[in-house]
Amino acid sequence: MHFKTRSIHAGQGPDAAYGAVMTPIYQTSTFAFQGVNQPGEFDYSRSGNPTRKTLERCLASLEGGEFGFAFATGMAAEATVLAMYGPGDHLIIHDDLYGGTYRLLMSVIAPKGVDIEFVNLRDVAALQKAICPDTKAVWIETPTNPLMNLVDLAAVANVARERNVTTICDNTFLSPYFQRPLEFGIDIVVHSTTKYINGHSDVVGGAVVVKDPALAEQIGFLQNAMGTCSGPQDCFLVLRGIKTLAIRMEEHNRNAIGIARWLEKHPKVASVLHPGLESHPQHALALTQMTGFGGTFSFRVNGGREEVFRLLGGVNLFTLAESLGGVESLIEHPCTMTHVSMPEDVRAAIGITEDLVRISVGIEHLDDLIADLEKAFGNV
Ligand SMILES: *Cc1c(COP(=O)(O)O)cnc(C)c1O
Repeated sequence: MHFKTRSIHAGQGPDAAYGAVMTPIYQTSTFAFQGVNQPGEFDYSRSGNPTRKTLERCLASLEGGEFGFAFATGMAAEATVLAMYGPGDHLIIHDDLYGGTYRLLMSVIAPKGVDIEFVNLRDVAALQKAICPDTKAVWIETPTNPLMNLVDLAAVANVARERNVTTICDNTFLSPYFQRPLEFGIDIVVHSTTKYINGHSDVVGGAVVVKDPALAEQIGFLQNAMGTCSGPQDCFLVLRGIKTLAIRMEEHNRNAIGIARWLEKHPKVASVLHPGLESHPQHALALTQMTGFGGTFSFRVNGGREEVFRLLGGVNLFTLAESLGGVESLIEHPCTMTHVSMPEDVRAAIGITEDLVRISVGIEHLDDLIADLEKAFGNV
């Protein structure tokens, strides 16, 4: 069945107890045994919960996987996946990624003896060279936050597979509606469902989806052992958000490309980083692995911090806030907000400079969004 249909029906059905059409919130910690030594399908909500199970089946279907796992946050999903690795294991990480992932790797995972190496994986030859006998996994994000660089999913998956290395992709920016890494040979997809998948800025959540039963077994074990799962109320909200994922993503995409084209012609804008623009250096790759460009992108303002702060101070409809992927439009300054946990020299080396602004375009009317930016540029 088509994505739009599966987002409403996959893994869901009228509830077994009373035929509730919407999946009930099973707000319970524990479940009665059917008899002595006879547990039912669920016994304790850390190990499994019917509301969570429904969400997990739906997520697996949308990503084109077999097994889904729902976590308390995106970082809980990432920490659980990374718990598969231990001292002496070598992980190759794309050098341009979400600031929180960078912090988790450097402040929590590396001190435990896992060898973390950052490599620019836009260059597949560099990946070939970096893989050594201890390499266990490659971690990528595409498009990257906030620079909107792309990584070639099929090329990375092929190189890694030949060398028996697991591939992990953070697919938060596009959601499975616009990009499904498992279809390109990636082994593990992770998400912050906080963003587009839930889409209403009222939940923090995470997800992992895989095809391989052996990987599913490990991740399921760790989810239960570490207790990183999502609670039933949050799972219900994410399930509800997913029902409109397809139509929201279409609107985000249309609005974002509209604003990107408008910014490209603006005299106070130095450049626009949006993979849907012909000017994006990897536009051709975008067309081969993404079916849309999402709603989040960045641009560079002529000048620097002063000019950016004046722009940010002048918006009304756009909210000055971190996060992305909600129905409302947000604007932020990566250097002083989302990417402040990344050392300044690392930021500068990859191009997260003071002139960079990131916007998460919501699903309001395009004309109102452009009018708000136009007015704010009057301050610059
Ligand atoms: C927000 C985000 C995360 C972390 O997710 P939380 O739900 O905030 O824990 C991870 N990766 C990317 C790309 C994100 O945007």
